[in-house]
Amino acid sequence: MTKAIMTKPENVAPEHFIRQIIKQDLASGKHQGRVATRFPPEPNGYLHIGHAKSICLNFGLAQEFSGTCNLRFDDTNPEKENQEYIDSIERDVRWLGFSWSGDVRHASDYFLQLYEYAVELIRQGKAYVDHLNAEQMREYRGTLTEAGRNSPFRDRGVEENLALFEQMRAGAFDDGECVLRAKIDMSSPNINMRDPVIYRIRKVDHHQTGNEWQIYPMYDYTHCISDALEEITHSICTLEFEDHRPLYDWVLDQLPVPCHPQQIEFSRLNLNYTVTSKRKLKQLVDEGHVNGWDDPRMPTIAGMRRRGYTPSALRQFCEMIGVTKSPGVVDVGMLEFAIRDDLDRNAPRAMCVLRPLRVVLENYPESSSEELWLSAHPKDESLGKRRLVFERELFIDQSDFMENPPSDFKRLTVGGEVRLRGGYIIKCERVIKDGQGVPIELRCSYDPETLGKNPVGRKVKGVIHWASANHSLKVQVRLYNRLFNHTSPDSGEDGKHFLEHINPESLVVLEGCVAEPGLVQASDALAYQFEREGYFVLDAKDSSSDALVFNRTVELRDSWAKVQK
Ligand code: ATP
Ligand code: MG
Repeated sequence: MTKAIMTKPENVAPEHFIRQIIKQDLASGKHQGRVATRFPPEPNGYLHIGHAKSICLNFGLAQEFSGTCNLRFDDTNPEKENQEYIDSIERDVRWLGFSWSGDVRHASDYFLQLYEYAVELIRQGKAYVDHLNAEQMREYRGTLTEAGRNSPFRDRGVEENLALFEQMRAGAFDDGECVLRAKIDMSSPNINMRDPVIYRIRKVDHHQTGNEWQIYPMYDYTHCISDALEEITHSICTLEFEDHRPLYDWVLDQLPVPCHPQQIEFSRLNLNYTVTSKRKLKQLVDEGHVNGWDDPRMPTIAGMRRRGYTPSALRQFCEMIGVTKSPGVVDVGMLEFAIRDDLDRNAPRAMCVLRPLRVVLENYPESSSEELWLSAHPKDESLGKRRLVFERELFIDQSDFMENPPSDFKRLTVGGEVRLRGGYIIKCERVIKDGQGVPIELRCSYDPETLGKNPVGRKVKGVIHWASANHSLKVQVRLYNRLFNHTSPDSGEDGKHFLEHINPESLVVLEGCVAEPGLVQASDALAYQFEREGYFVLDAKDSSSDALVFNRTVELRDSWAKVQK
């Protein structure tokens, strides 16, 4: 397990190797002074935090150098892809704050061109139709230490290959009966160069091209040609494609493509306590371990959005972690740091009592109430004021009262005093309990001389949040914790499957929480700080006008600062 990277944000060099390559290329005039990147997701799942890094990098570099960035769906696997994923990906890229150049592209837009290029390869004697089955092909491929062997079909003539490939296209063969392979070198030390398959038969409909094709091009063959057709200059991808680069270059070198983009690899983002394999995320969804791709516990962009993470915080995070070629694991605390940093500055403040305990102010007139105006943000006057109602019956949090407190307890005790945030100082006169001895109501008094003033002759240190009993909203609050309680859930350490590391307390639902009235206007796009509790955002899906649901975005505690000490 690689050690988690914890770098202070201010120490991250703004420069990284890909930016340097681009600057050099611009200086030398390599791509006629152009910068053209692309983000090429396969629409077989929702985007996650790792994709956010790639999006910020590709779109960010294009912005920085006045270039272009395309959004291209790498859609060569029709069985696993669908329109829902396409829609979600477009939405997520936009939400992150980026717009692509021109129309959305699809590798499938180029199916005809890709087919014609394959015919061209056959004509040049550089591709052949092979009838080995999958198992035989594996056998013939050899291993890392042992060269492969030529297929018995490798040397069939151009005309025969052209005819067979045409028949493949026309549906004369069944799935798996034959494939088209590039003729490169079965003894290459790079296994990717041992006559890779470039076309296979799949008799399935495609979400873009319907039933037009019965053969589909393979990813490695498609990707480089798509890049070239779009005249991409810098084709940025993750490190696992380094060994595929010779194939990327080989294909482009054989064909009359308009340009030859440069593939550049960087190391993918890995986050501790998090799984970012699409296959595993899909499993979490399909097996119901979470409530959909946009479950706020998911590291998907849709999940993070629903949880109250902001696009600016995610972009900031991607900037902080930098871009390198060395594999590493980033501490999820760094992501949380970026979220908190953003929300501390921008989230309006509000009060919400999560576990209510009734307080009756015995000396407060029964039929009376008064308005209190508090600032929505301690440091940003522009966010305005919020209205609270103070009255005889209120709620405080159960944890803010203790009958037998430790000596350093600064909140409410029997006979003790505390200030209600923005309101008066109250004193607990007696406690009413249920049959099990659990406090159910506090009978208190308030000091009318203490609104906005300190009391004369005594110090009251504690300040707690509260909500009025009759002028508040009853809301549901969902407390989210990490989805996994293991630093590297899918490492297979301890011989355990990643599902075994799911945190049973990743979601705690609190009903009957009491929130200040202004939250009726909360939007799902902006989190609030519930004072003393954390940041919370209106749930976009499950809230209705008479039943608001709030998701905890992140706790207040700054674990990042703790690590730095
Ligand atoms: P798969 O190909 O297994 O479905 P993938 O995560 O590679 O999954 P793609 O849709 O192919 O998904 O990814 C689109 C782009 O996002 C690729 O360029 C890929 O390199 C990049 N990407 C994916 N995961 C990460 C990650 N964890 N960190 C950085 N970039 C990533
Ligand atoms: Mg991929």
